[in-house]
Amino acid sequence: MLDESKLTEYELTARARDGKETVVSYNATTFHDRHRKLQGVFAAARDVTERKRYEQSLRLADQRKNEFLAMLAHELRNPLAPIRNMLEVMKRASPSDELNEQARDIMDRQVEQMTRLLDDLLDVSRLSHGKIVLRRGPIELASVVHHAVEAARVPCEALGLELAVSMPPQPVYLNGDSTRLIQVLSNLLSNACKFTDRGGRISVTIEREDGQVVIRVRDSGIGIGPDSLPHIFEMFMQVDASLERSVSGLGIGLTLVKNLVELHGGTVEAHSAGVGQGSEFVVRLPTLAGPPERLPEPAIDPASPVTARRILIVDDNQDSTDSLAQLLELAGHETAKAYDGLAAVEMAAVFRPEVVLLDLGLPKLNGYDTAKKIREQPWGKDMVFVALTGWGQEEDQRRSAAAGFEAHLVKPVDLALLTKLLAEFAA
Ligand code: ADP
Repeated sequence: MLDESKLTEYELTARARDGKETVVSYNATTFHDRHRKLQGVFAAARDVTERKRYEQSLRLADQRKNEFLAMLAHELRNPLAPIRNMLEVMKRASPSDELNEQARDIMDRQVEQMTRLLDDLLDVSRLSHGKIVLRRGPIELASVVHHAVEAARVPCEALGLELAVSMPPQPVYLNGDSTRLIQVLSNLLSNACKFTDRGGRISVTIEREDGQVVIRVRDSGIGIGPDSLPHIFEMFMQVDASLERSVSGLGIGLTLVKNLVELHGGTVEAHSAGVGQGSEFVVRLPTLAGPPERLPEPAIDPASPVTARRILIVDDNQDSTDSLAQLLELAGHETAKAYDGLAAVEMAAVFRPEVVLLDLGLPKLNGYDTAKKIREQPWGKDMVFVALTGWGQEEDQRRSAAAGFEAHLVKPVDLALLTKLLAEFAA
């Protein structure tokens, strides 16, 4: 009968001549009798190099995740603070027109900034799951450049930066997704603005080069050092990642740029002669040989006159529902609201809407069942259903299409897109 056993464990790291490390874990259990006399030893040695490497990579990933969360909180809080401040000012003072206008401008800018951050974040997550699908069609590059440059002009002017654009004389046609290409150029321009000091110069140059178009976004800003340059398109990569830095961002913009350009069959490169020497980003995209037969219709201006519709808005987020109703009323539509599925069915019976904007994740009765129940009624057969979701995942889109929804919109609803849809239903 053995009374006592004792476990000893230790690890040894051995380095071979070629520099390769091997970690070996030794453990030995000694067995003693009641007089503490050694009766036996069980010893084992295991090569745990792989496990150690795995643990190390987990620790590193965990550390990166924590740093990223700190950065994210910081970046989301930045725009929130001025919005809150202006709300407080509005609560306390009876606001003059001037103050109202200032508050509106500040909130507009900050909400825009926050939306961009969150959109980028959602895009990166979709990209990493291979869920971004381009909506490609024949497009003219000039309209993409125009959109991105016009959006960048105001911030550039505010920062005292010169912005020059040079386009080839003949139109350049691509098979592309114009929204995504605008996103690519906007990201590069926004970086050029962020990393260039007052008085600097930014240029966008477009040139044809056999079978492709070359877009160069150049700035006279802080430049990128040779150590950082090879890693500049990596996720979360920021040359200055301190929370005290003066510019905002999450370090995902260039990752998105690279992925979106590659989805278009193109390439992107970063060049810089070094710190303080400015930077240049070069995007190459394949072009169409000649003008396409049909270019897409220009988007409908949300300010253009609309056919008034009767619209039922259903969402359990009351602020979301109420504000969307206000917007649609201002645009000349008649609206009714419901905050859960059962209330929506009751409201539809009374209000008899032409269009139902329906959140899919609803309390009491989900969006799919709500639509089904309304459709079963003799008065509900011709109603048009538009699904609203926070994510726009492919699975949701497929399910809502199968359930007979005419369209699927991602929240927050893009008013221009909704206006276009409403006009199409009217046709
Ligand atoms: P973010 O701008 O949010 O930090 P990006 O992925 O767009 O993230 O850029 C990653 C990093 O690359 C930036 O943090 C910055 O250090 C560097 N960078 C990007 N564009 C420029 C530029 N035009 N000039 C200098 N540095 C740049």
